[in-house]
Amino acid sequence: MKILPLGATQTVTGSKTLLQLHDHSYLIDCGLFQGGERLQKKNVSVNTKALRHIHAIFITHAHLDHAGYLPYLFHHGIIKPIYCTPLTAELIKIMLDDSLSILESQTEKEKIEGLYFEQKDIDLVNANIKTVSYNEKISFSDCQVSFHPNGHILGAASVRIQSNENVVLFSGDVGRQDDPLHMTPDIPLDAQTVQLEATYGDRIHSQASSLALLREEVEEIIQKKGVLLIPAFAIGRTQMILRLIWELFESDPHLQLPVFLDSPMGVKVTDLYAKNCSELKLTSKEFDDVLSCVKLVRFGKDVKKLKKMMPPFILVSSSGMLGGGKIMNYLPEVLVRDYNTVLLTGFQAEETLGRQLLEGAKTIKVGKQKVDVRARIKLLEGLSAHADRHELIGLVKRMDQLKTIILNHGESEVLEHFKNVLEDSINVNVIIAKANELIDLS
Ligand SMILES: [Zn+2]
Repeated sequence: MKILPLGATQTVTGSKTLLQLHDHSYLIDCGLFQGGERLQKKNVSVNTKALRHIHAIFITHAHLDHAGYLPYLFHHGIIKPIYCTPLTAELIKIMLDDSLSILESQTEKEKIEGLYFEQKDIDLVNANIKTVSYNEKISFSDCQVSFHPNGHILGAASVRIQSNENVVLFSGDVGRQDDPLHMTPDIPLDAQTVQLEATYGDRIHSQASSLALLREEVEEIIQKKGVLLIPAFAIGRTQMILRLIWELFESDPHLQLPVFLDSPMGVKVTDLYAKNCSELKLTSKEFDDVLSCVKLVRFGKDVKKLKKMMPPFILVSSSGMLGGGKIMNYLPEVLVRDYNTVLLTGFQAEETLGRQLLEGAKTIKVGKQKVDVRARIKLLEGLSAHADRHELIGLVKRMDQLKTIILNHGESEVLEHFKNVLEDSINVNVIIAKANELIDLS
């Protein structure tokens, strides 16, 4: 058994790992590198030669950095069966449609040479998806594969692969035990090898109540008559934010404000969440109550209403790291006024506008426009969709047959730190995945 990491190595995006077994190779995740131009250009130099002969693709979840490279791969003529859970398949459809519309709306300057796909590639991706229920086993000539809920977003899974030699687990992005919306992770513990995400391998999530932090920011904009702009990833995070806003309004009705969600993809994903409450910690009735607090911007007339809206109000929009999307229409205007607040809600990758704001930039560039940052910039802690160091260590400690941990999906310093902590905590071999460096587990 050999593992060849091709992405999310010493960075948090571009997840792609090649698993070489006796008869075949398999690709686990097929994600895009995201962030600044340097990271985006890595998508052009993906080692497609190594991917030509794969037998199948397994997708852990539908975030862009785990599934967004699929149409590019198919555009290269590498057309393979894709296995994922039914809800991941639904989300992939929504996510890829959104990717294409972003690609088509790019100006010549924004385009990255060699990074391109078309509608027919999306159609091919969708036609090649085979859905697998949680815990169902699918068999290949040299392995058995199953998907297990890991609590990260709707449909998300860790992938367990059992060969004749070994059980290997690809964690995907690991969610949190006490996530208020998504399923509790139920990850198999019998692997000898785990490829473990390490986004937050260097920290323990703040115990600060996200509800209390949101209350503070809502009170602030009510007092200042400002706009509370909440950038949120369309899948998972947006629905968490809406749930939290509902909880705040329920507990403090006098804080009720108009709330808008302007994110075409976020709206579609929210509709999908509403239809699948059996896979969430909210009942359908509760999800309806959440939706009653927010105006989903679906039509031109909704946008007009939003534009005429007098503050204070709350606007949730994508993308979560300010790398594009509808939020860019609002960002310059919100940032230049000191009575507004931008409330970041999740991990802000290196080289993104979100990271620049978080690090206190006084001026940022939104497209070609230079914008002075006068608004309050805050981070809504306690709302992560990723397990922290304690939770990750807790997981691997329960895996009593574990021999090797391969760390990926983390920034370099985080990985080094986490490797040291793991080596001090448990007696296993810890390897930091490096791009195109083969790991031989036989
Ligand atoms: Zn993710």
